[in-house]
Amino acid sequence: MKLKVFLFLFFIVKLSYSQSSYPQDYFINPLKIPLSLSGNFGELRNNHFHSGLDIRTQQRTGLDVVATADGYISRLKIGPWGYGNVLYVQHPNGFTTVYGHLDEFAPKIRAYVRQRQYSLKKSNIELYPEQGELPVTQGEIIAKSGNTGGSGGPHLHYEFRDGNQNPLNPLLFGIQIKDTRPPKINDLYVYPKSTGAHANRSEKEQKIQIIPRDNGTYTTNPVEALGEIGFGISAQDYTDGAPYTTGIYDIQTCVDDEPNLDITFSKFSFGNTRYINDYIDYAYYIQHNQKIQKLFLEENNKMDMPIDQINNGLIHIEEGKSYTYEIVLTDYSGNQTLLTVPIRGKAAAAGEEIQTKNIEETPFFAPANQASSFQLEHHSIHIPKGALYKDTYLDLDDSPEQVHVHNDETPLHKNISISFNADTYSPSDFEKLYVARINSKGRKIYAPTTKKQGKIMTKTNVLGTYTLVSDTAPPTITPVNFKKEEWISNQRFLKLRIKDRDSGVSLYSGTLNGEFIVLEYDYKTGIIKYDFRDGISKPGKNEVQITVTDNVGNTTTFHSSFYRKD
Ligand SMILES: [Zn+2]
Repeated sequence: MKLKVFLFLFFIVKLSYSQSSYPQDYFINPLKIPLSLSGNFGELRNNHFHSGLDIRTQQRTGLDVVATADGYISRLKIGPWGYGNVLYVQHPNGFTTVYGHLDEFAPKIRAYVRQRQYSLKKSNIELYPEQGELPVTQGEIIAKSGNTGGSGGPHLHYEFRDGNQNPLNPLLFGIQIKDTRPPKINDLYVYPKSTGAHANRSEKEQKIQIIPRDNGTYTTNPVEALGEIGFGISAQDYTDGAPYTTGIYDIQTCVDDEPNLDITFSKFSFGNTRYINDYIDYAYYIQHNQKIQKLFLEENNKMDMPIDQINNGLIHIEEGKSYTYEIVLTDYSGNQTLLTVPIRGKAAAAGEEIQTKNIEETPFFAPANQASSFQLEHHSIHIPKGALYKDTYLDLDDSPEQVHVHNDETPLHKNISISFNADTYSPSDFEKLYVARINSKGRKIYAPTTKKQGKIMTKTNVLGTYTLVSDTAPPTITPVNFKKEEWISNQRFLKLRIKDRDSGVSLYSGTLNGEFIVLEYDYKTGIIKYDFRDGISKPGKNEVQITVTDNVGNTTTFHSSFYRKD
């Protein structure tokens, strides 16, 4: 009972603190529809914690997006990757709001951007307007919602940033999302951590069966353990009326009523967001596509959301003693889920076998906090300090064709470099080569490639098998909504599909009647489009030319013509 009282008080104190430090009635909603989420702040994503809210847009693009408070456009970007077309509004109270994956900007902003794109002759552009150039008022339509950049479907990515441009949980600013559903724990895992530590007769991590209780809380059978252990959970939150899971707002653990770990997903820094790969059980994620979040901190993990901890969240279990470990998950609306884990300190009985952890030693030892370089017969590998999260015996193996750099179940925090000796290739063959990673399905994926004096190099943050691939196939360019010599006065866009089978599209550009045109590229569909509102076309016959270059420099130029009234 004491635990519940403590947690309850603690939660109240925390919520009132968070509400008092951020303005509650300053910002309105960015969409004119009731808000429903497909993603929330702190959610576990690939290589990062999600930094905003993903707001659903009725499965379509083109909804009005408004400035949520007065301010000015302080930054904007048009490009195929990441947030796609994105606007940043700087507010006089020091906070910035960000609106991502937009379809297009409002006319005033669009005109400003197009003017710069045409004067710089660049389709992809990032600008930092001064205060006074693009002021916006609260409720002003600044864009249409979209699906640009790395977006898996139409939605608005809405983000808050502090004065250091680090993300804050938007819910801290009084946004109301109906949520009466508590978080759900799918699975619990135990991790023996110290040398010789074990749980349920094994030194290896293992799943613990969760048992629901009548009162809505959860428990497990007693875990028999010895030494330092930690736990991990697979868990999600749910909001009312949305078919999407979201991340947990607050995770607390206690040992015998004493607070042990408390992580609050209220803010973090972009610089440390990749530590997620050391926070989740990365190997398990690669094997099972399920993210287990650890309820303890690994030695080198510098993720920086607010964390209170004792002994990094690990529990020291002694022979003959009993412990009660409790996990409390709380969502932003205060709905809670409690899991109680009884633990008994128990050494192995005489003759009882404990399954051991086997660490395979190899000649290639790479410490986490030191750089290492390895010369193989045909390759060299450089691993900078801090690229690995823990000291690792690497499994390295090479042949003239490919190099096996450990395994993709081990995460990297930074790029390593892999260099291929390629001095036996003729200059023309050399030119067509690129480095590819062979993924678990056997697919060859382009890895950013540089070449110098008979060597081909890649910098990559994924371990695994790499090989050289020759790309002699130039990109293809196909018109989508017009045919040669056709009248297309009613089309708003000129659309073409661009594709490169092997190394992928690197550059694309186009002209109309010899004049530069802005092209917007959606890599998910391969569509590039020119917007006739840009006014480059002329009445009558128009000549279009599109040039696409792949990542090894193969280039295709496409010519066609069409007619228009204007
Ligand atoms: Zn998002």
